[in-house]
Amino acid sequence: MTAEIIAIGSELLTPFFQDTNSLYLTEKLNELGVDVAFKTVVGDHRDHLTAAARIALGRAEILIFMGGLGPTEDDLTRECVAAALGRAVHRDPELITQLYTRFAGLRRKMPENNERQADVVDGAEVLPNALGTAPGQWIEHEHEGARRYILLLPGPPHEIKPMFDEQCVPRLRKRLPRRFIATRVLKIAMMGESDVDHRAAPIYRRFLDVQTTILAGAGDIQLRFSARGESLQAAQARVNELSGLLEDEFEDHVYSTQGESLEQIVGYYLQMRGANIAVAESCTGGLLGERITRVSGSSRYFVGGAIVYDNEMKTLFANVPPMLIAQYGAVSKQVAEALAVGIRDECRATIGVGITGVAGPTGGTEEKPVGLVYIAVADGKRTEVVERRVPGDRDRIRWWATQQALDLVRRMLM
Ligand code: AMP
Ligand code: MG
Repeated sequence: MTAEIIAIGSELLTPFFQDTNSLYLTEKLNELGVDVAFKTVVGDHRDHLTAAARIALGRAEILIFMGGLGPTEDDLTRECVAAALGRAVHRDPELITQLYTRFAGLRRKMPENNERQADVVDGAEVLPNALGTAPGQWIEHEHEGARRYILLLPGPPHEIKPMFDEQCVPRLRKRLPRRFIATRVLKIAMMGESDVDHRAAPIYRRFLDVQTTILAGAGDIQLRFSARGESLQAAQARVNELSGLLEDEFEDHVYSTQGESLEQIVGYYLQMRGANIAVAESCTGGLLGERITRVSGSSRYFVGGAIVYDNEMKTLFANVPPMLIAQYGAVSKQVAEALAVGIRDECRATIGVGITGVAGPTGGTEEKPVGLVYIAVADGKRTEVVERRVPGDRDRIRWWATQQALDLVRRMLM
């Protein structure tokens, strides 16, 4: 079975809003064994919306329309879908009563145009919406001899999610062939996408029944596997087998096998070792501390640290000798090491991290170009420092530096 998701709303065609609901729906549909074959975004425009509905009818079996169920003139989903299906809409008296009751309960007078929300496509089943005024609709339709399931759902994320989970998933499950999908994700730090694929492809290509996708971020590669099977165990076994082979191939480059983030993994290791960590950040401006503290419970191992942007602050908070900065420059291996050692001492932490670099886009020189970063980790016995030349813009360089720092800490703790 294939699905098409149609997001409706002119705001979704501006630079300011994105259709995020479809990501959620796609995950849920995949779990049901349904592939999303098409996604469409269409504005609040009668002809465009009707055309989108006609096209979708011809190319997918499950059609999910979301948005455009509100009370205003530009909420056209009900009537345009009805037009594409060759059906009419009728105003449901029971829904009108419910709408007035809902408004009365809120001590508000219902504007008359709200009655539009009681319009139901002929033959549709109404899906109650406990969290908003627009009910959803479930329609089954024959199109050129084939069955279509057509869902009209509200746009607001907090309304569509429970409606889909509680009312649509059970209906779909009853009508779909029983299939199980198992998934797994391996995360790899600090390797290039082409390096990963070069080594992984000969392995995953042998698993024709497992779908493998590679997601590449800055200093982070995710290998995602999914397999279908007659039972969840059968599907899971295939995914686990492939995942195991790739874990052997990439060894300690793999930082996570159960979906954990790098900062979570670092947190696990720190707790396992009874250690804690302090950071002295220059070019990342606190991003490393922000990432570490995204994890709930990080107070057990994150001591704190300092944002040491100015050279004087490097000395004041992390005891970096001014002579060292004068001799080697603020962006140098020596200063990164001194930051890691200094902040560790100042915070009396088990592990200290120092980051210094040129995030750009200005401030680069021939000797110290934009993207040059030094990351150091000290644990009292040794201090490791890495020099990186990161391509890309300011955001990417800063993210990369924190990714490298977390990976270095992970490796020291392993
Ligand atoms: P509507 O049902 O068209 O009145 O949409 C109501 C609100 O839901 C919109 O203003 C958006 O904020 C949100 N919304 C609608 N469609 C989507 C979507 N596809 N993804 C995320 N948010 C959405
Ligand atoms: Mg809208």
